[in-house]
Amino acid sequence: MSAALQGTVVLNGHFAHEFPELSIAWTGEPTPEPTLLVLNTRLASELGLDVDFLRSAEGLGLLTGTTVPEGATPVAQGYAGHQFGSYSPRLGDGRALLMGELRGPDGTLHDLHLKGSGRTPFSRGGDGRAAMGPMLREYLVSEAMNALGIPTTRALAVVATGTTIRRDTPLPGAVLARVASSHLRVGSFQYARAHGDVDLLRRLADHAIARLHPGAATAEHPYRALFDAVVAAQAQLVAQWMLVGFVHGVMNTDNMTISGETIDYGPCAFMDGFDPAALYSSIDAEGRYAYRNQPVIAEWNLARFAEALLPLLDDDEDQAVEVAMSSLGSFRDQYSSAWSAGMRGKLGLVAADVGAPEANTVVDDVIALLQQHGVDYTSFFRRLGAAARGNNSPVRSLFADTAAYDAWAAGWTALGPDADLMDRTNPAYIPRNHLVEEALAAATAGDMEPFGELLDAVTDPYRERPGLERHAAGAPEDFGPYRTYCGT
Ligand code: AMP
Ligand code: MG
Repeated sequence: MSAALQGTVVLNGHFAHEFPELSIAWTGEPTPEPTLLVLNTRLASELGLDVDFLRSAEGLGLLTGTTVPEGATPVAQGYAGHQFGSYSPRLGDGRALLMGELRGPDGTLHDLHLKGSGRTPFSRGGDGRAAMGPMLREYLVSEAMNALGIPTTRALAVVATGTTIRRDTPLPGAVLARVASSHLRVGSFQYARAHGDVDLLRRLADHAIARLHPGAATAEHPYRALFDAVVAAQAQLVAQWMLVGFVHGVMNTDNMTISGETIDYGPCAFMDGFDPAALYSSIDAEGRYAYRNQPVIAEWNLARFAEALLPLLDDDEDQAVEVAMSSLGSFRDQYSSAWSAGMRGKLGLVAADVGAPEANTVVDDVIALLQQHGVDYTSFFRRLGAAARGNNSPVRSLFADTAAYDAWAAGWTALGPDADLMDRTNPAYIPRNHLVEEALAAATAGDMEPFGELLDAVTDPYRERPGLERHAAGAPEDFGPYRTYCGT
């Protein structure tokens, strides 16, 4: 306990106190030489955290879980989950800690959570640690997602620990401090359900309603409304992933939040050339979590959530199943409407075109065009903004077969696309895989400058700036197929 921290940082322990069944009090493992690699000063200020304090030795202690503010109760959270379709009854925070909840200036609670903070009782065979590269990667990609307007956990800081960790090669260790509206996952409810304790399940659902989906509290059936709200949030979320070309890579039920925020950036990547089968994870041989499967997997995960919630949906099990099925049945329509609305925005087609058969044809055909030609997804839409202003050559240059583009573009141009809308909708900068790798390799070797430049580009993604041209360009031909790794 640190008295010096008192008053500087107030961490609530709501989760720890309300859910002893899902919490094991724990702290971070000592760090021989903590060094701040990156601090999100804007997020810190938004949360009312003192930036100078966070940079201090005590602040680094907080950010690595080795210094605990008085009154705080850091815990490893228990949860279960389906991993690649197989159920594991006990996963939990094997290398993470919930430090507690911060109350933001607007009164809302945010989890302060650490990843890579050392072994816990949930570690199984793992070392509880994380390597610097993957933690910087999560920082970068989660902040890029936030800048793209996609719900996500936020990155507050990465602190190098001074420890060398063992992976294929020895790597510098680091701890990521992240912030989320909550770390409740589908797997949290699966764990509670497996406990066989309906009271615990009900308390967990009440907690989720109060914190994440307060509208459900006043519904006639609050738990059904909670399920509906999560179905809606996930339909929106996955549609947004698809629209920016994001592949999460490890959509296990323990990595799907109740809040609808993206969580756990492991083997994720943004695709370069459009490819529905895009998949980067080295361990996903069957392509379960490939780009095109994400909506179906989200629906599958929501079915697992429904199973966990069944006792709360109705006293009669058959009736409960019916309620769940009916709500889940709306997922596809919600997803499709969100995706279609988003795609019309990307194409600059204003609301007046909604439902017009010509607009639907243009949307269907653009996907076929991209797929057939494997064109760089992000560059295509960004350059299409110039085409909407009459300058077709930047986007045309992406095609070897320009006739195919011209044929599609004739139909699209006839709909009168709104170029300003397109510039606000289509990012110029995403975390390009080859640049992410370059930045992480440099950071691991001690040079944070490329990371800083990349972070700068992707956290202001719609405003094109001179000097950042290479961040707007596709992968070089010699970059080859991209692979990402779990167990980072
Ligand atoms: P993830 O796929 O990263 O969401 O992690 C799945 C599970 O594996 C969670 O229970 C993690 O806490 C655990 N885990 C991942 N990496 C490690 C590690 N290095 N040491 C201990 N547990 C880990
Ligand atoms: Mg996880």
